[in-house]
Amino acid sequence: MKEADSRSPQIGSVTGVTLPAVPAILNADDYASAPPDHQRTGFPKQGGQSLSYWLQQVRSDTLLDHRTTNELPLEADVVVIGSGITGTLVAKHHLETWPNKTVVVVEAREFCSGATGRNAGHCKPDQWRHFAKFEAAYGEEQAIKIMNNEAATWRALVSYVKENNVDCDLWVGDTLDVPLNDDVAKIAREVFERYKDLGGKVDHISVTHDPADAARISRIKNARACYAWHASTLQPWKLTAHVMRDNIAKGVNLQTYTVAKSVIENTTGVHKWTVNTDRGSIACDTVVHATNAYSAALEPSLKGIITPKPHMCNKVVPPRSYSGSNAIKNSYGVLLPNGGIFSINPRCSADGILMFGGSNPGQQQLDEWVERHPENCINDGLSRVDIVTEQVRRFIEENFEGWEDAEFGPGEGFDYSWSGIIGLSADGVPFVGELPGKPGQWICAGHHGHGMARTFTAAPGLVKLMHGQPWAATGLPEVYQMTPERLQRLQKANQEMVKIATV
Ligand SMILES: Cc1cc2nc3c(=O)[nH]c(=O)nc-3n(C[C@H](O)[C@H](O)[C@H](O)COP(=O)(O)OP(=O)(O)OC[C@H]3O[C@@H](n4cnc5c(N)ncnc54)[C@H](O)[C@@H]3O)c2cc1C
Repeated sequence: MKEADSRSPQIGSVTGVTLPAVPAILNADDYASAPPDHQRTGFPKQGGQSLSYWLQQVRSDTLLDHRTTNELPLEADVVVIGSGITGTLVAKHHLETWPNKTVVVVEAREFCSGATGRNAGHCKPDQWRHFAKFEAAYGEEQAIKIMNNEAATWRALVSYVKENNVDCDLWVGDTLDVPLNDDVAKIAREVFERYKDLGGKVDHISVTHDPADAARISRIKNARACYAWHASTLQPWKLTAHVMRDNIAKGVNLQTYTVAKSVIENTTGVHKWTVNTDRGSIACDTVVHATNAYSAALEPSLKGIITPKPHMCNKVVPPRSYSGSNAIKNSYGVLLPNGGIFSINPRCSADGILMFGGSNPGQQQLDEWVERHPENCINDGLSRVDIVTEQVRRFIEENFEGWEDAEFGPGEGFDYSWSGIIGLSADGVPFVGELPGKPGQWICAGHHGHGMARTFTAAPGLVKLMHGQPWAATGLPEVYQMTPERLQRLQKANQEMVKIATV
């Protein structure tokens, strides 16, 4: 990571929080901010995708290749492009707002086979960790709003799952943030204290600064501190599928294996826009871009604004010494000295298999490889990327007591890994609102590798805007809003290759 050695405490132009006195960096957004090739983009890769653990579990589910009607409708009130958690939730809230309007969701490949169907399965609201970065980039008020919004998003997701009895392996429990050396612990403490001093809500976070206690609580040998608060893990495809099935029952038309190739303005006819796909065209009044990482392929004004980047997730089957009553009982964010993070989802309420996401140190080399081979920016066909998996292995062996000495039988241990494509936002926060200069075209994208803690409020927020309500009605931080000024500012910075506030 470029600024890993930086000693500047300034944050507006760096990718993480660095205190002057220490060489460590606390960059919880997972190397997501590593400056990418400013123009790269692409449509979803066709064929050869790696199968995530979530997608492997649902191979006989007919929703994967569902088409509500054999033929693509010729017209609709709204076309939602993308069937990930964002597009699916936008369709849900649109239906609730306008039950009589016709909604078509087009999806380039299998249902929910983008980032949502291949992430690490964590819905972990940031409750302090990025505060200093957001504060430096956007000011104290916005930074506090972002923390509060993440908590509200997590609550909304959990309520939905519970109220609707969604079968998606939901776990609710303590997530642990564990700095792995003294420098990172020092930064973490400073960020936490600053957030608290400025009135941030921290009474639900239990903090342990004693390394021995932290190691005991977290079961991570080299823990130097431990921050615990409530978060969730889940099977993201199953959650999204539940919402989409309900949408379909209420009238949404889902068209999988349908690539939107362009959106053009109609100068004649009753509908303002035409969505051209590889299977025909749909005339409509409203378009929603729920295309996340791929947004710029369809909407060129977003080139360099939303940039695709492959990320890896590793699946690890615990040995018997880490199973049964000894199974891991918390999820984690392990904060590494070089700015990386292991995001660990041990599927506590399900099969106990560990998902390692986040940005482990090997991700940096993968990023550099993608920079040299930009055609791979949308490659979600990667698997067994050794530079990434080796880092997971090393971390586990150095930190999970007894793991190294465990006797592994067939079916235990490191299984495989897959890639998914995150949508980097040029300024680190999502874009929610109307596309500048394109009335009737809306976007909710650029979730910066953290969409599970954002979309359950961002998607309904977008629908409120579509309904003519003011931004305040969304309850979202103002910095998430797509405005002409924000887009122009980022485009200008892009053209001039100027560094912009990136969190
Ligand atoms: C490996 C990995 C691990 C992650 N781990 C976590 C985590 O633990 N917690 C967390 O909060 N976030 C995590 N994320 C990020 C999170 O998954 C995303 O932020 C979130 O899923 C975004 O949802 P979405 O619906 O906006 O995008 P997506 O799920 O990517 O959906 C967009 C959809 O649009 C479709 N599409 C795009 N263009 C077109 C087109 N032209 N025509 C038709 N269809 C199109 C795509 O095929 C795709 O299905 C992770 C991401 C990855 C890759």
